[in-house]
Amino acid sequence: MLRDAWTYQPHGSSRKVPVKPSWSPEPTSNPPYLQRPQNKPPGHSEESPVPVRNLCLQADKTVLIVYAHQSPKSFNCAAKDAAVQVFTDLGCKVIVSDLYAMKFQAVGTADDIKGKLKNPEHFLYNEETMVAWKEGRLSDDIKEEHHKLEQADLVIFQFPLYWFSVPAIMKGWIDRVLTQGFAFSLQNLYDNGMFKNKKAMLSFTTGGMESMYLPDGINGDINVLLWPLQNGVLRFCGFQVLAPQIFWSIAHTSPDARAALLEAWKTRLQGLLNEKPLSFAHTELFDLNFQGGFRLRADVKEECASKPYGLTTAHHLGKPLPPNNQTKPE
Ligand SMILES: Cc1cc2nc3c(=O)[nH]c(=O)nc-3n(C[C@H](O)[C@H](O)[C@H](O)COP(=O)(O)OP(=O)(O)OC[C@H]3O[C@@H](n4cnc5c(N)ncnc54)[C@H](O)[C@@H]3O)c2cc1C
Repeated sequence: MLRDAWTYQPHGSSRKVPVKPSWSPEPTSNPPYLQRPQNKPPGHSEESPVPVRNLCLQADKTVLIVYAHQSPKSFNCAAKDAAVQVFTDLGCKVIVSDLYAMKFQAVGTADDIKGKLKNPEHFLYNEETMVAWKEGRLSDDIKEEHHKLEQADLVIFQFPLYWFSVPAIMKGWIDRVLTQGFAFSLQNLYDNGMFKNKKAMLSFTTGGMESMYLPDGINGDINVLLWPLQNGVLRFCGFQVLAPQIFWSIAHTSPDARAALLEAWKTRLQGLLNEKPLSFAHTELFDLNFQGGFRLRADVKEECASKPYGLTTAHHLGKPLPPNNQTKPE
């Protein structure tokens, strides 16, 4: 039965058993350092598998949550609130940009620039905003978001998947806040990116089931779908990209399963800042000049020739995609 265009509900009612989240900690035996903290942070569960030293490392950090959902009753809101609660309990500073509540301007226009334009005849958004950033002439809302980003050690983007991507209001945040000069430049990209000391991740809900986003699913491989946001936006600006948190087909998940998913998310959040980031091709593997066309070096290609998989989801080199390259760290 098709419930709506985005979701497919298999025969029968909503799922009864908790589904495994896209990320979930594998059960392990406790290593010696895995002891309960003397001064447990409030809200920290007795069963938490997060090492004590990791909790301490997180206490002085700042977390920015860029959040896009219209309703405080939504699952996205619950996922955002869980992150606020966990990081606050850990002693972190938490900043939320609640884009719909802020009525965040989603469209980049000349209004983003105070004062005279350099070339009003042929308005080029990236060039004008770069100059305005250098001269402190960007609009106040962009400056405010820049200030939040400067403080952040971790940025979490919380949203419902819209058209295989972020909702327009969040795309507007990306377009307007990741200003050229401030967030990237030709010299400061990828491994050398402006935000190389920061972490970022996507946390999102979908209408479609997980199986629809498998390599043989009707929507195609989720790893391919994640590449533009995770590589094209986050890693492009230098962020260390953490594995995404995906809440599959959340509206068609039973209340118990949703509660279990939120608990698993809270457990993950406690150790999030210590997680290994996803793997991308290192910048040094490319000829970083216009003559070389910024392509993979010949010796690297030669080395890759004998490997069964491509380097990453998009640096596939005509080979099979490395499985889970955009959903799990190596
Ligand atoms: C324009 C548009 C484009 C879209 N494109 C896509 C697409 O490309 N691919 C795709 O897969 N989907 C797509 N969708 C579907 C969309 O991704 C889902 O509708 C969305 O992810 C659902 O998330 P939500 O937070 O809005 O869910 P909600 O409907 O708000 O929540 C789901 C359920 O969780 C419950 N809930 C709320 N809080 C809690 C709590 N604390 N504990 C337990 N349960 C709770 C709610 O009551 C509700 O029953 C699209 C939708 C739109 C509008």
